[in-house]
Amino acid sequence: MSDLLYRCPRTNLNVQAWLHDDPAPEKARDFEGITCPACTQLHFINRTTGKLLGEDAS
Ligand SMILES: [Zn+2]
Repeated sequence: MSDLLYRCPRTNLNVQAWLHDDPAPEKARDFEGITCPACTQLHFINRTTGKLLGEDAS
């Protein structure tokens, strides 16, 4: 299990999420869907960088 720290875009809170599997480099998805404990919405987070899907796209 590994943890992932990100900032919830709806509440602007820093959230620590726990992942149940360890990323395998050759098969890990770039983005992990996480049900946010701060806002209860689903966020997709890059498990390598901690950035949210759609964030920093420019
Ligand atoms: Zn959230």
